[in-house]
Amino acid sequence: MRRPDRVVMASANPDKVAEIAALMRGVVEILPRPADLPDVVEDADTLEGNARLKAVAVTEATGLPSVADDTGLEIDHLDGAPGVHTARFAGATATYADNVAKTLAVLRGVPIAERTARFRTVALLRDPDGGELVAHGVIEGWIALSPVGAAGFGYDPVFVPEGSRGATFAQMDPVAKHAVSHRGRAFRELRRQLSLL
Ligand code: IMP
Repeated sequence: MRRPDRVVMASANPDKVAEIAALMRGVVEILPRPADLPDVVEDADTLEGNARLKAVAVTEATGLPSVADDTGLEIDHLDGAPGVHTARFAGATATYADNVAKTLAVLRGVPIAERTARFRTVALLRDPDGGELVAHGVIEGWIALSPVGAAGFGYDPVFVPEGSRGATFAQMDPVAKHAVSHRGRAFRELRRQLSLL
């Protein structure tokens, strides 16, 4: 694959688009997802499969390379759930608050030592010829006893990354979060792979 100058973001989530554009700055220009593109049904059974579904849809619609990512939260006490179902843990129309509430409810009474969890991201860049770069990022941590902090999004108020002295992602500024985050790690790895092309 030749290194692209510009790639289209497969995600329309503004929280993620801002993060990823910052992480890729200087290596490749990120174009926004066309507004008229229908949502992709993310029904693959792996994070990589879902990232590929999203990237293929955008590449086919635009004729340009696309970058997609998919993230899962794996809670050990739940044998790795919600995993690939993280976005809809509390139901098909769940809000971030619903998912946080469900996470705390299913772990009620579980001691901190047994609340270990990790975020895992797969970042996938696909070109119109079908060439791909795939990068992985993982951050270990645990689920807090109650939500703390106002920054970030999703499960950030209840995810405490290792090495943060007990702070949740939602208590960290974006630079500190992405220095260690699943997505930061995956996109730095993708950036490294791109820089070798
Ligand atoms: P997605 O597949 O990358 O959209 O992520 C699935 C779900 O994981 C999202 O709906 C969020 O609830 C959650 N999520 C993804 N990344 C993060 C993060 O950095 N912090 C907290 N929650 C996240």
